Amino acid sequence: MRVTFLGTGTSQGVPVIACDCAVCRSLDYRDKRLRVSVWLEVQGKSFVIDTGPDFRQQMLRARVRKLDAVVFTHQHKDHVAGLDDVRAFNFRQRRDMPLYGRQEVLDQIEREFYYAFEEDRYPGVPHLQLLPITNQPFEVEGVLFTPIEVMHGRMPVYGFRVGDFTYITDTNYISEPELEKVKGSKVLVLDALQREPHISHFTLPQAVELINRLDVPVSYLTHLSHRMGLHEAVEAELPSHIRLAFDGLTLEV
Ligand SMILES: [Zn+2]
Ligand SMILES: [Zn+2]
Ligand SMILES: [Zn+2]
Repeated sequence: MRVTFLGTGTSQGVPVIACDCAVCRSLDYRDKRLRVSVWLEVQGKSFVIDTGPDFRQQMLRARVRKLDAVVFTHQHKDHVAGLDDVRAFNFRQRRDMPLYGRQEVLDQIEREFYYAFEEDRYPGVPHLQLLPITNQPFEVEGVLFTPIEVMHGRMPVYGFRVGDFTYITDTNYISEPELEKVKGSKVLVLDALQREPHISHFTLPQAVELINRLDVPVSYLTHLSHRMGLHEAVEAELPSHIRLAFDGLTLEV
């Protein structure tokens, strides 16, 4: 399986509009972070997790030619706002785009993109197929996804394990039974927003502590704020089995 990080930034992205901090002014390409998403290429199939506001740019930048389905972690805007642009794949592939998510996520998609679900639809709108999931493993085009239910403040969010790869964004609490599902992964991606405490995201020290309790060979932090610091400086502080993800990073898992 190949994993490509399409975006690794928090909801505002990095740089932040009108911010003059050192991170937002950095010329290091790793300090330029679109909103979080990953592209999974597995068994000849192509999936993305989430379609944030940068979805179109991410599809162009990574040269994604085919998309078989979208799997959603949760309904926050930075994870769904770019959904309209899946219509490029509707036209190209001549089929509806399957969208997998918790019922609450699909309900919100139906509200926000109401024009895609009207009876008398404008011809150019996206064609979407809503497929509810619960906290049980499910198959997408023959590929098994195992949800990991985590808490993001008061909101339940799904992380996903696919084979030896586990992707968990937007969380500040994972219960012990759900953590069990992560064990044995070869690669873990985990939310780490910033250094200071936050009501719905892990901080850098919290993420490091949790990772150190799990026996995973390598972990990557994502959903990073400009307040985390410069990519190079933060990575220099971390043990070698914990890295910061960056946009464009690809992994063979
Ligand atoms: Zn988010
Ligand atoms: Zn900044
Ligand atoms: Zn969120």
